[in-house]
Amino acid sequence: MSVIKNPALASSGNQKIRWVKDFMPTLTKIGIELAKKQTFAGFKIGMSIHMEAKTAYLATILSNAGASVFITGCNPLSTQDDIAAALATNTNDIEVYAIHGVDEETYRRHLKAVLLHQPDLIIDDGGDLLEAYCDLPESKRWPVIGGCEETTTGVLRLRQRQKQKTLPFPMIDINDARCKHYYDNRYGTGQSVLEAIMHATNTLIAGKNVVIAGYGYCGRGIAMRAHGLGAKVIVCEIDPAKALEAHHDGFIVMKMEKAAPIGDYFITATGCKDVITSAHFNKMHNNAFLANAGHFDVEINLKQLRSISKSTSERRNGVTGYHLSYNHTLNVLAEGRLVNLAAGDGHPAEIMDMSFSLQTLGLKYLIDHHGTLSRKVYNLPRDIDDSVAWSKLDALGIKIDQLTVDQYSYYSPN
Ligand code: NAD
Ligand code: SAH
Repeated sequence: MSVIKNPALASSGNQKIRWVKDFMPTLTKIGIELAKKQTFAGFKIGMSIHMEAKTAYLATILSNAGASVFITGCNPLSTQDDIAAALATNTNDIEVYAIHGVDEETYRRHLKAVLLHQPDLIIDDGGDLLEAYCDLPESKRWPVIGGCEETTTGVLRLRQRQKQKTLPFPMIDINDARCKHYYDNRYGTGQSVLEAIMHATNTLIAGKNVVIAGYGYCGRGIAMRAHGLGAKVIVCEIDPAKALEAHHDGFIVMKMEKAAPIGDYFITATGCKDVITSAHFNKMHNNAFLANAGHFDVEINLKQLRSISKSTSERRNGVTGYHLSYNHTLNVLAEGRLVNLAAGDGHPAEIMDMSFSLQTLGLKYLIDHHGTLSRKVYNLPRDIDDSVAWSKLDALGIKIDQLTVDQYSYYSPN
């Protein structure tokens, strides 16, 4: 089975998809334009991205613009079965391969199922679809026009492939567009991570010590929101300039080993591995919470935590208690996978409006420039990035100043 089809589920999913549409004006506007021109007619688009309402709306926009869409999740725990059911039932032009909580083998099988359709274009979030393509023997590959990558760690994986000259087709780095990481990584992650933690634990943030590992765009957003909720924020970093920035933003900066005994909540957002290990678990106080907001489930070393635990138990939905030998329990949220999507609905619709507008325009750029791009990672052109910001400002009714001709030539005299 590739999706749970059930009318009640589909109806709940459709309600959620209709809801987010009202808060995604930029994507809607782009969608109307592209549908009129049938921009993606004749193109097959393969997607591996969190299977929830905003993504479903993106898939619908692409399908309405003429594409045949084949979609799977990019994390087994972020798939919402009602959304998958709604998408699978609504149109024949979208094929869905996604079930919540599937094991690793089924997750990989679903990626392969998308690739069996030989998509011309891909949308990836984290790089798993591209990696599955690269795993195919040369004889089973077909020419892909290109793809768009959504997130920081996915782009890092692409750049490693580019360096090793093994990138199989052109990829556009959506993450580094300003309208992506400024808002998605910062405000989106900031809000949705704290929302998911509060919902999963039903505990009070005010007055607590919240330890955040990584002060990049995600970490900054999480720190800002935790501070706003009344937490005392502690930041752990490895980059001296980022650490200094956290200090000047008013947060306490220290090593993880010093933060371990005083933290109430630990949130990782680094894209690195082994950020919290047994060197730290043993110092933590009873009932501390551990959550990951970064890419893979390797930021908190759960293997080590399991090895020092007498037992584990499901304490609440999405909260696993690791019971240590000395009667301490550490609470791990969402199995150490990215907490905002595995234990929540992810970023709000207004944020995904921008990220997914960039994705859609990125795909259009790939077909408009088909044949002129090589096997490289490309930044999304600045004018496309700006067009999304203009459209968003317009939807919000915000007007801004524009350079006069004189001011423009003052900046660029030649
Ligand atoms: P970033 O590169 O802006 O920031 C990462 C920060 O972590 C850097 O400042 C780096 O110095 C620091 N760091 C690296 N290793 C560390 C370690 N061992 N200890 C402490 N600090 C360390 O990246 P970003 O855009 O903030 O993304 C961070 C991660 O979150 C990535 O894996 C990205 O894919 C993921 N992400 C998640 C969401 C979400 O919805 N949860 C959204 C966007 C990005
Ligand atoms: N496969 C990886 C993906 C990293 S997720 C993993 O599961 O660990 C990080 C990305 O999720 C971000 O770049 C953000 O754009 C995306 N995201 C956040 N909220 C989302 C939502 N509500 N719907 C779809 N994607 C979302």
